[in-house]
Amino acid sequence: METKSEALFERAQKVIPGGVNSPVRAFRSVGRHPLFIERAEGQYIYDADGNRYTDYVGSWGPMILGHKAPVVQEAVLKALEGGLSFGAPTEREVLIAELITQHVPGVEMIRMVNSGTEAVMSAVRAARGFTGRSKIIKFEGCYHGHSDGMLVKAGSGVMTAGIPDSLGVPGGCAADTLTAVYNDLDSVEQLFQQHRGDVAAVILEPVAANMGVVLPKEGFLQKLRNMCDTNGALLIFDEVITGFRLAFGGAQEYFGVQADLVTYGKIIGGGMPVGAYGGRREIMETVAPLGGVYQAGTLSGNPVAMAAGLAQLRFLLDNPQVYGQIEQSCAYLVEGLQKAAAEAEVPLTVHQIGSLACLFFTGSPVDDYGSAKSSDTKRFARYFNAMLTRGHYFAPSQFEAIFLGYAHTKEDLDRTIQDARGVMKTI
Ligand SMILES: *Cc1c(COP(=O)(O)O)cnc(C)c1O
Repeated sequence: METKSEALFERAQKVIPGGVNSPVRAFRSVGRHPLFIERAEGQYIYDADGNRYTDYVGSWGPMILGHKAPVVQEAVLKALEGGLSFGAPTEREVLIAELITQHVPGVEMIRMVNSGTEAVMSAVRAARGFTGRSKIIKFEGCYHGHSDGMLVKAGSGVMTAGIPDSLGVPGGCAADTLTAVYNDLDSVEQLFQQHRGDVAAVILEPVAANMGVVLPKEGFLQKLRNMCDTNGALLIFDEVITGFRLAFGGAQEYFGVQADLVTYGKIIGGGMPVGAYGGRREIMETVAPLGGVYQAGTLSGNPVAMAAGLAQLRFLLDNPQVYGQIEQSCAYLVEGLQKAAAEAEVPLTVHQIGSLACLFFTGSPVDDYGSAKSSDTKRFARYFNAMLTRGHYFAPSQFEAIFLGYAHTKEDLDRTIQDARGVMKTI
């Protein structure tokens, strides 16, 4: 019998490209139809057929406190009473900017936008405006949203679909994007040599979380910092995933390395569409209306979105134990899954940092895009499907992260581990 999710997907495919509003949601790389979600609460999501799943995606990161966290929910309901949008400044925008600039190292000014894509696009423009240079160095397998210049060797969705670049991106847009190998400083040095004086910025995910989760090698971030300084280029940390997740101050705080510009998304909006970019005052002062770098947004700083983000960030700041707890939960889950794989003699390379993790279905070490791709994606798909059937909702791609949240309990994790012990033997 056809499920409601299947029926909805059939209708969706007739009127929405691929039936979804963002490609990875289509579940193509795991060979099945997606679940249509009706509602969510805490650590659980419920599909249109009424099935409950333990959610290890958390809307791809934002729901660090779980779904419908009371503080966020109440703040949004209160904001709704005041109206949905004014296109004029509001106090909440000042409050959230003050909160972030006071507690995140190196972020002296910040500008709100509506997505991570927009945040990166704007930060790159500011970097070019500030330095007067045009080239950007990015890393193979890092994803920075879908703006033209960043769709060069991008990760996750693009990687899974097997299209390294995108149609519709003019050669000219990609020409100024230079691609280095993650964790390989020589590849960066080479690009600096070849394009001496032309590199505006190096951008990266300080923990790469869109080619699976790939950790920066010891000293990699600090050496990039030094290399940028030597070459007069800016360092941009894309903290759309790591921001407010590895620590309140994100990867900058976690690794003790300061970027010149930082981009945010996901957690910063508490589940509403928000992104932001910020950093050193002198760079941010090049942004309009102060400076000549134009950037604007009709709905930027939206009152309801700001209320959600502000409430979530305040909670994280007031409850620093969240970070310890979600890190412990994540380590516990991953250890259990790793044991389950070992029992079944399934080769696995496991990465975990804070509340982010990834099981690569390969026996080889993974430290860049090339090694991540060596994973057995068919085996991942079998694992994914079997776990989904048993009520555990992981991201539908080998190249996405596991996101732990504050709402997951030990019972949830134990159930997942227990089921994985059976599943690993069958894949
Ligand atoms: C999700 C993501 C983006 C894009 O954010 P959107 O809100 O989807 O536009 C950019 N960079 C990183 C590291 C991301 O994970």
